[in-house]
Amino acid sequence: LNRSAGYDVDQAAGTISFDSGVPMAKASTIAAEAGLTGLEFALAIPGNIGGAIWANAGAHGGEMVAITTSITLLRADGTEVEIPVADAGFSYRESRFKGPEGGGEVILGAKVALTPGEPDLIKSHLEEIRRWRREHQPLGIPSAGSVFRNPPGELSAGALIEAAGMKGVRIGGAEVSEMHANWILNRGGATAAEIRALHDACRDAVKAKSGITLATEIAFIGEFAA
Ligand SMILES: Cc1cc2nc3c(=O)[nH]c(=O)nc-3n(C[C@H](O)[C@H](O)[C@H](O)COP(=O)(O)OP(=O)(O)OC[C@H]3O[C@@H](n4cnc5c(N)ncnc54)[C@H](O)[C@@H]3O)c2cc1C
Repeated sequence: LNRSAGYDVDQAAGTISFDSGVPMAKASTIAAEAGLTGLEFALAIPGNIGGAIWANAGAHGGEMVAITTSITLLRADGTEVEIPVADAGFSYRESRFKGPEGGGEVILGAKVALTPGEPDLIKSHLEEIRRWRREHQPLGIPSAGSVFRNPPGELSAGALIEAAGMKGVRIGGAEVSEMHANWILNRGGATAAEIRALHDACRDAVKAKSGITLATEIAFIGEFAA
């Protein structure tokens, strides 16, 4: 189903219906080409519309909950239903699809509502996001993106990890990125156990330094014996 990559632009209404398999980066350029603004943030997010709805993905001040109007689902009993965004259980990086309520539901697509925008401004916003990512994210090195959620308050998870002295720390092939301390990189041959150990070390160092317990953003699946 995530190979289904159709979309339908209604320029007059300012809406686009995406199949779940449309890559987020492509969705941002489809919107830009339609002269619609509000989806530029999707350029930064690896993954498809389905995964982005599942995670209520967001970046650069935008997130799926802010633009989605409805979601089409395939239920476990084989029926299709369109639900309004209010029923999706969205909160920060959460949706009902992550919990038991969404068990057995497959996201077939989502409709987003955007705003008419000046094409040159949309283009320069996309360019700004591209530049920001190149300058602030260690792209091209294997990673799972942000390891911890940003806690409430002024300081991001990355800033707290950096303040705790963990930037650049390595365990085996796993390394806390020098560029973005909330990313753990596989510098070559890192095992799952090493990545998990470095995650634990960052969490413990932040707790000791600032008293804040960081919540993990990524999911650990399987066993992590060294
Ligand atoms: C380098 C990197 C940078 C990242 N940056 C960001 C960021 O800036 N902001 C952000 O929010 N996230 C970010 N992420 C996380 C990423 O956006 C999420 O993991 C997203 O959910 C992945 O989408 P996907 O299509 O790859 O889903 P997958 O990884 O394939 O799946 C993720 C989960 O979603 C479920 N799922 C996927 N499609 C469907 C569907 N159609 N119906 C029901 N369930 C489905 C899967 O079963 C799985 O449980 C980043 C990840 C990486 C690796």
